[in-house]
Amino acid sequence: MERAKKRILVVEDEKNIAELLAYNIRKAGYACDVAYDGRDGLNRALSEDYDIILLDIMLPFINGFDVCRTIRTKSNVPIIFVTAREEEKDKILGLETGADDYVTKPFSVRELLSRIKANIRRSSGELISPKKNSNNSKNEKSESTTIIAGDLNIDCEHYSVTKAGVPLELSKKEYDLLVFFTSNIGRVYSREDLLAKVWGYDGYYGDIRTVDVTISRLRDKIEDDPAKPIYILTKRGVGYYFQA
Ligand code: CA
Repeated sequence: MERAKKRILVVEDEKNIAELLAYNIRKAGYACDVAYDGRDGLNRALSEDYDIILLDIMLPFINGFDVCRTIRTKSNVPIIFVTAREEEKDKILGLETGADDYVTKPFSVRELLSRIKANIRRSSGELISPKKNSNNSKNEKSESTTIIAGDLNIDCEHYSVTKAGVPLELSKKEYDLLVFFTSNIGRVYSREDLLAKVWGYDGYYGDIRTVDVTISRLRDKIEDDPAKPIYILTKRGVGYYFQA
């Protein structure tokens, strides 16, 4: 059963920013909890059921990167870093710890809400419906919910992926990306296309490097040799495509 309201956790030690976020999030129709340090944020994230987590990086007790890494060992909840740190390496590191996205302060509340909405929508799987895999003859009864591509097996009902029978730990966004690719085998997508179709970002929101980093993380997990991928291939100057 869907809860009446989607629940959002804000982990932010600057009180005025936390209050601004909570005010706008509640005004947009979500339930919102606030944690003012990394330890409390992590405890709440692990003990309660949130639809999305907004996470600062510089936090008392446990920093945002470590909070994110620890959450990712237990949960695929969408995580967006809301950060004052502008350095590229911080953004990339944030994504590598398993976050789904980042927003840099000062941010526009409208942009942040549009990302929250996009991530929650993707997370509840409304927009990604895998096509039936007609090549799959050995597993007929679950053909509408299972995608098989090479040695990858994607169980869309349980959001689980195995490679040669071994379970893979994918973040929500890595999973969404894999389902999208395997539902559109051979078709080349630009990074902007992928931001729109997998992240749900319209127009100029979002950073195409988010796509590169997520693809790199996904390759690390699904490819035998991520440096010589056989599933997710780069079409130089154009984008990416999946081949089975
Ligand atoms: Ca902070």
